[in-house]
Amino acid sequence: MQHTNLYIDGQWRDAASGDRFDVINPATEEAIASVASADLADADAALDAAQAAFGLWAAKKPRERSEILRKAWELMTARLEEFARLITLENGKARADAMGEAAYAAEFFRWFAEEAVRADGMITHAPASGARIVVQHKPAGIAVLVTPWNYPAAMGTRKIAPALAAGCPVIIKPASETPLTMLALMPLLEEAGVPKGLVNVLPSKKSGRLVDHMLHDPRVRVISFTGSTEVGRKLLHSAADQVLKPAMELGGNAPLIVFEDADIDKAVAGAMLAKMRNLGEACTAANRFYVHEKVSREFTSKFSAAMAALKMGDGLEDGIDVGPLVNADTRDKVAAFVEDAVAKGAKLELGGTLPNGKGYFYPPTVLSNVPETADCVNDEIFGPVAAIQSFTDEDDVIRRANNTEYGLVAYVFSENMKRAMQVCERLEYGMVGLNRGLVSDPAAPFGGVKQSGLGREGGHEGMLEFMETQYISAEW
Ligand code: NAD
Repeated sequence: MQHTNLYIDGQWRDAASGDRFDVINPATEEAIASVASADLADADAALDAAQAAFGLWAAKKPRERSEILRKAWELMTARLEEFARLITLENGKARADAMGEAAYAAEFFRWFAEEAVRADGMITHAPASGARIVVQHKPAGIAVLVTPWNYPAAMGTRKIAPALAAGCPVIIKPASETPLTMLALMPLLEEAGVPKGLVNVLPSKKSGRLVDHMLHDPRVRVISFTGSTEVGRKLLHSAADQVLKPAMELGGNAPLIVFEDADIDKAVAGAMLAKMRNLGEACTAANRFYVHEKVSREFTSKFSAAMAALKMGDGLEDGIDVGPLVNADTRDKVAAFVEDAVAKGAKLELGGTLPNGKGYFYPPTVLSNVPETADCVNDEIFGPVAAIQSFTDEDDVIRRANNTEYGLVAYVFSENMKRAMQVCERLEYGMVGLNRGLVSDPAAPFGGVKQSGLGREGGHEGMLEFMETQYISAEW
């Protein structure tokens, strides 16, 4: 059964205003569901429910919280196909990508089931006074979670699982393009044993007003956001009024550097993953390719051949690698990046032509000789377009790679480990993929520096984002 209402206090409710909005299948441009659109009265109901659930959940033994999360992992793992289908329907991504996302999303429940029992504190002697310093972590309080459309399941579970592990209730505002997957997760969480009121979902067409209202409620203590830097900045301003704990996973502009001593086949395989996982609609997507002049032709022709072999079509069909982009705006923005780069002198190696017919499709595209002034070098492409430039000097490529306000992830390919590690350390990025095109891992601290964000998700750090540190100065 497809859920389309708000999920508040363990119940499915229509919005108090009665407002609804359509969810569109990007492959067919047809409406597939009409979803309730939350407003302020619904937010208040969710806040009341979350507050009521907080005390009992926070008081549960960590092992009990852990076992509920573990059960959620088991249940989701048994239903990956079901979730993948829904992800493809509302987001467009091809089945293999959707299956990958569903499995990745489920893993956050397993990882944080394991972390729930490890909120380790500390006890030590104060050096001067001799008093004991007792340090412990406590659940921070109600967390508002705002997620993007590019990973409708994983961007939610990456926040829900650590929040629950830490002992916090949550209110999720999923992206308006893709609310169905998050709603579909709720019966599964109920079955796993998550008590009513602990997890609430509020799809809304009035995101700004709804989230701002919640960030001004004194019961809220955490805002965890994944999305664009532009919206992240606005939420940081709102969060300032109540000095909320912010976790911000924002935009990226990932450089991918291929040195002359790289294993080129490995670099091509890594680049395909870094560029085409999720058809480029990822904050981690390689956005700027810097390839050493000596290997530039070999890399470009092998990479273009790999891109040309991808099959585009409705993501639900067999054998499809590249589904449609999420909406017309995203597709048009990608097309404009390509036109701009070509007008500024880039060479079109592959793709670049919009297909006819329904659906927001854009073909795998490769550009070479892309000038630094091209818009796609300075902004997130968020689509299946690789923009290749060449370089000759190591210091110069590091300077160019760091020349952005973003700092989420960079990729480096070199078989010379001494050089590769030195380069990684000089890159101003929260994460680096070294001879790998994939960094996302529930066990690792995911996050960026500079304007790519604040805080980390996954790893041990992910749970601490939902906890406050308390220190007791004690004598006994
Ligand atoms: P977006 O910022 O437009 O929207 C993200 C979420 O915020 C959605 O739920 C949206 O409805 C909501 N929103 C929009 N305006 C709001 C407002 N004024 N107040 C409160 N909420 C508001 O981003 P998007 O287009 O959905 O996603 C793409 C962006 O997300 C890209 O920039 C991408 O790099 C980024 N992203 C980052 C990560 C990461 O981990 N760093 C992961 C995935 C996506």
